[in-house]
Amino acid sequence: MTEISEKGILMVISGPSGSGKGELVKLLLRSGKGFALSVSATTRAPRAGETDGVSYHFMTRDKFEGLLSEEEFLEYNEYNGNYYGTPKSEVSERIASGVNLILEIDVHGAMNIKKRFPEAVLVMIAPPDFQTLERRLRGRGDDVPEETIQKRLATARDELAMLGEYDYIVVNEDGKLDATADRILSIIAAERCRTLRNPGFAEKFYESK
Ligand code: 5GP
Repeated sequence: MTEISEKGILMVISGPSGSGKGELVKLLLRSGKGFALSVSATTRAPRAGETDGVSYHFMTRDKFEGLLSEEEFLEYNEYNGNYYGTPKSEVSERIASGVNLILEIDVHGAMNIKKRFPEAVLVMIAPPDFQTLERRLRGRGDDVPEETIQKRLATARDELAMLGEYDYIVVNEDGKLDATADRILSIIAAERCRTLRNPGFAEKFYESK
């Protein structure tokens, strides 16, 4: 079948801790379906095992603030005194080359992306229900304090309250990660067929006569 739009999709993937979003992203990256993870820029120091250009683009505060004033970030935030941001250049170049670029970011970052890059596709990964989420969070290890679990559950509730701002919701059921990844592939396939992503198709069609 003729692939219509050859441009990749910028897909924002959000989801509460315990949604299985991390495992899903790993599976998509290994799927051979043209997915890649966007590499953020940060001013924090590299941790052991982190590689520049792979884990993050590590840079000084001066450099980051310079890029910020040149509006080179699609979105950014500050955590624990360090800047983190999504470089514009990386996103547009990689999408143009056909890569489906994944941004694994929280709901606030996602809202910023939506404003700055309206063609992005926002997907919320959700657990099937509250009980499942609670079980997954508790099942991660006995050493997680109750307070942390309660905090994560409250955050999950806040994140899911933003669902209306997302384009898609994909429920990640227990033991069905492959099915969840298939849903993501269906979304990519449908998005590529959107008329908005295929301007000039009619002209090309007539020219081919
Ligand atoms: P860490 O220092 O543990 O790698 O990341 C700290 C926080 O920064 C995490 O919550 C992570 O999701 C967030 N973060 C990483 N990259 C970006 C980015 O490009 N933009 C925003 N807004 N947050 C980011």
